This record gives sequence, C-alpha cells and structure tokens, in this order.
Amino acid sequence: PTQNDFVLSVEDLAVSFDGFKAVDDLTFYVDKNEILVIIGPNGAGKTTVLDLICGRTKAIAGSIKFHGEELTAKTEHEIVRAGVGRKFQNPSIYETLTVFENLEISYPRGRSVFGALFFRTDAAVRERIAEVAEMIFLEDCLSMRAEYLSHGQKQWLEIGMLLIQDPDLLMLDEPVAGMSVGERVKTAELLNRIIRDRSVLVIEHDMKFVEDIAHKVIVLHQGKIISQGAMAKVKADPKVVEVYLGH
Ligand code: ADP
Repeated sequence: PTQNDFVLSVEDLAVSFDGFKAVDDLTFYVDKNEILVIIGPNGAGKTTVLDLICGRTKAIAGSIKFHGEELTAKTEHEIVRAGVGRKFQNPSIYETLTVFENLEISYPRGRSVFGALFFRTDAAVRERIAEVAEMIFLEDCLSMRAEYLSHGQKQWLEIGMLLIQDPDLLMLDEPVAGMSVGERVKTAELLNRIIRDRSVLVIEHDMKFVEDIAHKVIVLHQGKIISQGAMAKVKADPKVVEVYLGH
C-alpha cells in the first residue's frame, strides 16, 4: 500500500522539551478498521504522541498525515474537524445534564452549548443520538442525569460524545482505567463496534486488555519504538521484557 492508503501515517516525528527528546524519529501507520495500541513505561512519550497528533503539541520534525493530508501545521480545531477525536483520561461530561443532552450538545451543528440546548431537536439528530446511545450501552439511560452513571458508563458517554461527531480516528488514553471486569469486557466490545467503520489508537497499561483488543502493538521507550507487531510477538521480545513487562 502507498502512504495515502493508511488512515494515519506518522513519519520521522520528533519533539523536544528543553533539549530532551520526548519523541524521537518516530514512524508508524494506522490502517483502516485497525486498533493500534501504544504501550511502554511511564515517560516513554506515549501521551506526547497523542498530543502531537491532535495538535496540542507542535512537532519540531517529521510529518503526520491523516488520509494523506498533513496535520502538523493545523490547529487543534482543524484537526478535530478533519476527523480526529481524542478522549483524555478524565471524563469531561456535563454531570447535571442527561445522557441525551450530553450527546445532543456534542452533535456537530456549529452552535454554542446553550444554542444546542434550546434548539428543538430534529428527527435526524434524535436518530443519531439513539444510534450512538445503543452503541455505548446507554440506550436505557437517555433521560438519566450523567452524574448517576457508573464510572464505566461515564467513560462510554464521553466516547459517545466523540462518536457523534463521526471521527475517522479515535484516540483513547487508558480507556479501561478504574473499570470493573464487566465494564472492561464491554469496552472491548465497544472498540470492536467502533472500528467497523473507523480506526482506533489507544494508550494502555492493562496488558490483559491490550491482548484482548490490539491488532498491532507499538512499544515506546525513551521516545523511540523498540518493538512492534502482534502482541504475542511483542510480549516475547527480550527488549520489551527488559524495559517494561519485566517490572
Ligand atoms: P508517557 O505518556 O509515556 O508516560 P509522556 O509523553 O507523558 O510519557 O512524557 C514523555 C516525556 O516528555 C517525559 O519525560 C515528560 O516529562 C516529558 N514531557 C511531556 N510533555 C511535556 C511538556 N509539555 N513540557 C516538558 N516536558 C514534557
């Protein structure tokens, strides 16, 4: 495949903070319908990679192409509009609003939060909200205030708030942190639903979950890839055991 066939092509990417190379000459690709997981010890540069892709941090070298389009010169808003959604670790849902309202204000209509709330909901929006709510296992909780959801349900709601914007690439930072076993299983199912028509890039520390979901794993150490491929291969790599899995 040529570079443009990938959803995301990251090539020779680098960034330094006060001379310290947090990400160094990094190259990787995300395919359509793929779940790619980035693992590695604390400080390896995982979060910085997501920050670079979503435009929060600017690269000093290299390129980030999304469907062949260069992202490095774009603003965070332009990158969201291009179709890249990012979920941070802490949920940023509106606790006092219902599940329905949280999804409704996230629907991309180019209006303010208050404009969206007071605007009469049309059938197409309702249909899309119902569709997303079912996907995130919250179809029976639409009229519930978000503050009454479980920790896992709040995480799914936030994923739903991104999905309703229809991103082609969804980036998740430790999506199962703090979740129950049952919630982890459902999150794996959710990710498999999501990649039917998009791609997912995940940072994760829970190796059992990584084994369940990853199509491909990248192991970062000191800003560089030290191993990559299927989890079974990466897990047996002595370099990975030494810097990460052996601890
Ligand atoms: P990880 O997510 O793998 O734990 P990070 O990407 O958060 O690693 O951090 C990689 C390195 O870059 C760390 O040494 C961290 O202290 C440093 N770093 C990250 N962001 C910044 C920043 N904005 N300013 C200075 N140093 C940073």
